[in-house]
Amino acid sequence: MASRLLTYLQRCYRLGFGLLLACGLLVGALAGGCTPQVRDQKSVIVIVIDTLRRDKLGIYGNTRGLTPQLDALASQALVCDDAWAHAPWTLPSTASLLSGVLPQRHGAGGDVSSGFRAVREDTPLLAEQFRAHGWRTGLIANVDFLGPAFGLTRGFEHVDALGSRDNHTPRTATRTTQDALRFVEGCGDQPFFLVLHYFDVHAEYEPPQPWRARFADPRDAAERTQPMGSREQVVARRFQGATLDADLLGRMERLYDAEVAYVDDAIGAFWRGLPEQVRATCTLVVTSDHGEEFGEHGDWEHGHTHHPEVLRVPLFLRAPDLSPRRESALVGHVDVARTLLARAGLDEKRARDGQRLDTAPLPGKTQHHTAFGRFWGPATTSMRSESYAVHRRASPQAPLLYERPADAWEAQPVRNEARLQGALVSLAAWEAEQELLPAKQGPTPRMDASTKQRLDGVGYVEAPR
Ligand SMILES: [Zn+2]
Repeated sequence: MASRLLTYLQRCYRLGFGLLLACGLLVGALAGGCTPQVRDQKSVIVIVIDTLRRDKLGIYGNTRGLTPQLDALASQALVCDDAWAHAPWTLPSTASLLSGVLPQRHGAGGDVSSGFRAVREDTPLLAEQFRAHGWRTGLIANVDFLGPAFGLTRGFEHVDALGSRDNHTPRTATRTTQDALRFVEGCGDQPFFLVLHYFDVHAEYEPPQPWRARFADPRDAAERTQPMGSREQVVARRFQGATLDADLLGRMERLYDAEVAYVDDAIGAFWRGLPEQVRATCTLVVTSDHGEEFGEHGDWEHGHTHHPEVLRVPLFLRAPDLSPRRESALVGHVDVARTLLARAGLDEKRARDGQRLDTAPLPGKTQHHTAFGRFWGPATTSMRSESYAVHRRASPQAPLLYERPADAWEAQPVRNEARLQGALVSLAAWEAEQELLPAKQGPTPRMDASTKQRLDGVGYVEAPR
């Protein structure tokens, strides 16, 4: 349809029928209701696997064979080895990924004490840019933070944002893949920008067979024996000080592994289900919004610290014009937005805090990364440079300093007060230079009772019941 319209317009132009051309444009605009497309636009797919730890992928050294599909895609991609999210939980992290600005600017987040905050209305979102320039835009998501109440649906013409009712029954990855392919099919030969979000890896860990049998602890291989990451366990940990049981954590992690393997399989099905022309021309980004802790720093799940098991993420970009390679530079999610805008010929400066991943660093930009906020507890800000990571935590928690890259898992804090203070001064100087303080807050989201209930059900509990 679109190509026929273009041919028609070109013929009009060649024949010099100016009046006819004007009429054709008018008819096209009235019929399509959108900007006429340009033929060389390419589709863009951003896959976000909620809660996926970087170290579960074979390309990052995992040896359990959990991710053959992702590994195959990554083998044809620009793989970022040192990529980080800007917040340790879904809402603020995804807002940075889909805007290219830091949480201190977009304002989405909040915490358990003060309540949730939606993304600020002055935050430029990727989907708005793509839609304004003729891309079809689609969002397939499985948590309410990506639904209308929190502002991240702005710019998407197709919004299929289901909020999972609880941790036990999300829309499965299989169905998510099917719904995404239906959106792609509906786009015909028009370029599209698709954000595809999978939630299965998030607690509660309930993998289907045969992945459960292959990767779970033998005691859990046949069927669900007890809750593993339920809302009740979140409440017990966060509000009642329940202790962590090492054996239970180990069983949870193996079930989590099986969920990773299941989602990997569903992503393979998504990729194979795409039209060949899309696979051959699109830009594909794969990442997660944050990871998950299984006891590395004495805790479980996410939203409470800025350590690598929670903040360091998998990230790769695959496109026909990008040579497969490993990128060792320190990068963040804001860089994804900038890269996608630049590659599409759109206004990359809207992704204000990012720099392109597919070119040399921007002049004057230093290689460091920052993260801000947490859901469980008062605000934390962290900064990573090539040589250290510093965490500035609200009192009474002391700041922390780690060597980079030697202490990759941040296991041993550096006991050197002068170095710690120097790192904190550098962090403050960078915040001032970037005009990040005071951190802005987004509006209070307009949530109906059922949205609140669903978020509570998946563990974002504002108060224990
Ligand atoms: Zn998340």
